[in-house]
Amino acid sequence: MRGGLGEPSVLQRKFSCHGLLVRSVTCQRSRHRRALCVLPSWQDHELGTMKRVALWLLAEVGEGNKFTKEKLRKDFPGVSQIDRRMRDLRKYEWQIDTNREDLTLDPHEHCFVKAGLPVWERGVALSQRANAAIGAALRREVLAADGNMCRSCGITPGHPYVGTHEMAQLDIARRHVVTPTGVEVQLVTECKRCRVGGRGIEASLDAVLRDLSALGAIERRLLTSWVKADSRDFSRIEELWGDYRSLPAEARSKVQEALGLG
Ligand SMILES: [Zn+2]
Repeated sequence: MRGGLGEPSVLQRKFSCHGLLVRSVTCQRSRHRRALCVLPSWQDHELGTMKRVALWLLAEVGEGNKFTKEKLRKDFPGVSQIDRRMRDLRKYEWQIDTNREDLTLDPHEHCFVKAGLPVWERGVALSQRANAAIGAALRREVLAADGNMCRSCGITPGHPYVGTHEMAQLDIARRHVVTPTGVEVQLVTECKRCRVGGRGIEASLDAVLRDLSALGAIERRLLTSWVKADSRDFSRIEELWGDYRSLPAEARSKVQEALGLG
């Protein structure tokens, strides 16, 4: 029976995670109570506490609803640091407000604003390595694997951004990578500017016109055709190249393997 009232419905959510679409299955407690059967039970003690809290929020609280610390503690009796395990969910894009974020809440209240990544699914929870603080040795390792350049824009440290005197600084970012087995977090080198999303970028017509005048005839004709069409035809292979270049080292090595370069 489809579309009937008591049908166990599943709410398929698609959400964006660092530009990647991630699909997950969640449920709406009040209207789709039976849909809970598609999610593991929060009472399954085999699951870790953080995963159980995530499932508890979906099953017992529901997005947009308030809950008290007392209720959380009552439902997880004897679990140490239950508050901290709940806060850990924020690393996975779960939004759980306290009265610091939402002044209408009492000090003992929380609001479950929005579910994030389905942490109970295989491969979603951060690996211990990616979750840990990034120490100097790991930082060097990631930088070396990434060729000491920002994998998003290609800049190397100490070089100025085009049209500015601002020198690039490299940092290590955590990137969610959708793999055939689930979402993984991998470390990748990124410059400060790419990390903050291009803050302070200034456009310069002057520089564009100057560089334009330096183009050779073939390049000029190519650019003219793009400008005329107001779009550039990226062939799939160029797109693939761009996608490949921006993957973390671990994921790049899988592509190399697929090309027989492993
Ligand atoms: Zn960059």
